[in-house]
Amino acid sequence: MNLAFIGLGNMGSAMARNLIEAGHRVTVYNRSRAKAEALGVAVRIAASPAEAVDACDAAITMLADDPAVLEVVTGESGIARALPAGSVHIGCSTISTALGRRLAAEHAARGQQYVSAPVFGRPDAAAAKKLLVVAAGDAAALERSQAVFEAIGRQTFVAGAEPWQANAVKVCGNFMIASMLESFGEANATLRKAGVDPHLFLDVMSTLFGSPVYANYGRIIADEKFTPAGFALRLGFKDCRLAIDTARECNAPMPIASLVHDRLLEAIALGMGEIDWSAIARVSALHAGLPV
Ligand code: NAP
Repeated sequence: MNLAFIGLGNMGSAMARNLIEAGHRVTVYNRSRAKAEALGVAVRIAASPAEAVDACDAAITMLADDPAVLEVVTGESGIARALPAGSVHIGCSTISTALGRRLAAEHAARGQQYVSAPVFGRPDAAAAKKLLVVAAGDAAALERSQAVFEAIGRQTFVAGAEPWQANAVKVCGNFMIASMLESFGEANATLRKAGVDPHLFLDVMSTLFGSPVYANYGRIIADEKFTPAGFALRLGFKDCRLAIDTARECNAPMPIASLVHDRLLEAIALGMGEIDWSAIARVSALHAGLPV
């Protein structure tokens, strides 16, 4: 397929590489051009989002947040004005459900298709094509996007016919992970004060829960190795806020989300916004009077 890939951050660089390796013709755009040049593969680099998509079958966006996606889609040199009619925009960024609905309407008004396809998995999983893709949208658009999903992930789940439903799954999923990180942090602080090795606790919990999410994040917390950030804490805070927004839209209270939201905010206030979001555990350690 002729693809455009926009947003070459921690996740996007690995995903774009896998699409190129799968044999697709990929044109890339990134706000800071150096990241496009650093891809280290022969690839066409566009000067603007609009230029990247002008002859593509599908455009993939993997951008930080709602304002970044809005800029790239509806800005002066955004993709909405240049994406050929009938082409599909595959939005992989973690964005609000409200923006998911707005993008669907913007593209439909121009005869373009839109699917939301946010992903689970950190940059190392992206590099290994092990992402879990949660997609939603019109069945024909999902079918057209299948080759992209196969090149970037190990499994695709369809959340519904409305793109924003995939965004709802993603923000609720990240809320679950954030809650687990907070729980790990609280338990570790108590166990450190009890004189128990956090790695022993990690072994017990990894056996009990049997999930790579527990094992990988548990190790980062036990090792207190929060840099480099696989997923910046400020982005995790954004996702927790988005989960609360979705809960509000659906009239479904999420009290734990509000608690975790404030803990992440506290971590940002303490200067941890750019390190890994598992550093939320440091807040519990600080409250317990432990050295961090
Ligand atoms: P990242 O490394 O911070 O990259 C963010 C990307 O967005 C960069 O390409 C950045 O361009 C671009 N960007 C930011 N603001 C922009 C703007 N106003 N206009 C144009 N481009 C802009 O983030 P990431 O970790 O790759 O995450 C990307 C998305 O995936 C986020 O929505 C995140 O929540 C989600 N996600 C992340 C992970 C993870 O573990 N990292 C896992 C699953 C999902 P520059 O290079 O110019 O700054």
